Amino acid sequence: MTWQLDAGRDLVKSFGDRMALFVRGEGAYLWDGEGTRYLDFLAGIAVNSLGHAHPAFVAAISEQAATVAHVSNYFATLPQLELAARLKRLAGTGDTGRVYFGNSGAEANEAAFKLARLHGGAERPRILALTDAFHGRTMGTLALTGKPYMQEPFLPMVPGVEFIDSTIEALEAALDDRVAALFVEPIKGEAGVIDLPEGYLAAARELTERHGALLIMDEIQTGAGRTGEWFAFQHEGITPDAITVAKGIGGGYPIGALITFGTASDLFYPGTHGSTFGGNALGTAVAGAVLAEIERAGLVQNAAERGVQIRAVIEGLGSPLIDGCRGQGLLIGIGLKHPVAKAVVAAAQERGLIINAPNDATIRLVPALNIGDVEIDEFAALFAAALADVEATLSEGVVA
Ligand SMILES: *Cc1c(COP(=O)(O)O)cnc(C)c1O
Repeated sequence: MTWQLDAGRDLVKSFGDRMALFVRGEGAYLWDGEGTRYLDFLAGIAVNSLGHAHPAFVAAISEQAATVAHVSNYFATLPQLELAARLKRLAGTGDTGRVYFGNSGAEANEAAFKLARLHGGAERPRILALTDAFHGRTMGTLALTGKPYMQEPFLPMVPGVEFIDSTIEALEAALDDRVAALFVEPIKGEAGVIDLPEGYLAAARELTERHGALLIMDEIQTGAGRTGEWFAFQHEGITPDAITVAKGIGGGYPIGALITFGTASDLFYPGTHGSTFGGNALGTAVAGAVLAEIERAGLVQNAAERGVQIRAVIEGLGSPLIDGCRGQGLLIGIGLKHPVAKAVVAAAQERGLIINAPNDATIRLVPALNIGDVEIDEFAALFAAALADVEATLSEGVVA
């Protein structure tokens, strides 16, 4: 296929103009239609955990497609049962955990929303979520997403959701016995990689338990080893009632899941939820292979170590534009002192580096979990050059 500047002409206009057209990927690299190579530190927004075209991913998808891809949820398949057991083990649910499979993050959160309603019934109509957190674009998950500009064109929202600031005081003030669930995004990725305050999750666990509300963690971006633990809640030594996962679990295959703990596992009963594609043999075989490779290659530990390494590299650049790092492991937010994040992303792409700007003053890095010294050294050189490009235009007064 040839390079097209108007790539996306036939696609719905809900996304901005496509920034490039890629024809091939391998490891941490992508190639466009002109043969230009890019270092990919976005990994499809924290999706390609193993990088592009990893042999374990390719083998799983090919072999399962040649065996059995889909049978519907009237029946079970081995890859589905194996992935459910693996997710329970990695999340530490013990025997009582259960897993619901969907095809995306939004579908995992839709299932969690329904779980919250089943738990709440008529006595607990309130659902709490955090201002600025992102939970998805479908009508249910949009109702959970505390960003008024996203909701506004689609009002009225699904009722019952209230937004609170991410402080322990706001939690204490909001929780009562009429709350069904509290949704928490442990590091707010889409908002700009914003960390929760120290002690927040422990307080959230204590308060939700005291009031009989579910604690539901949206681990769609933070899960699958990205933060240096399998799931971000594991850094804090708490046990939630449910977590949602997607993005990095499938390594590029669309799959999402709701994982329940303890008595929350008893809430769904036959007929209360479902999906035609969710948990099919093909998707679960791929996700199983991706998670197995993350385990085999020690990539959760690698994410922790490479995250520290990249932060040191960024701080070592001594750029006057940079205002510190946020996040954990390989979910890194780089604060900028001026609202030039889009210019930095464009300059980086010009130099062959793919990064992303979740807001005007933040660069987000979410590379594959298996990156090493070679990729990090190359990142450092390209990112420094991109920053210098933007610093130059700033001093010329071109970018305000
Ligand atoms: C990406 C994301 C979602 C939505 O996932 P989709 O697969 O795009 O539906 C929900 N929550 C968080 C925290 C995310 O990062």
